[in-house]
Amino acid sequence: MKIEIGDVLVLKKGHPCGENSWKVIRVGADVKLECLGCNRIVMIDRVTLNKRIKKSIPLK
Ligand SMILES: [Zn+2]
Repeated sequence: MKIEIGDVLVLKKGHPCGENSWKVIRVGADVKLECLGCNRIVMIDRVTLNKRIKKSIPLK
């Protein structure tokens, strides 16, 4: 799946804060995501992330 900065990813497993939508803020070997619920930032490797994506909402 193509991942671009600004996309919102809905993951299968939610964050402990109750939100499961994340905004992509950096893309590389690892992807940096910001939780839309609590603004916490996490790094996750692409392979793991691809398995966890339920839905991707493109920026444009
Ligand atoms: Zn959160």
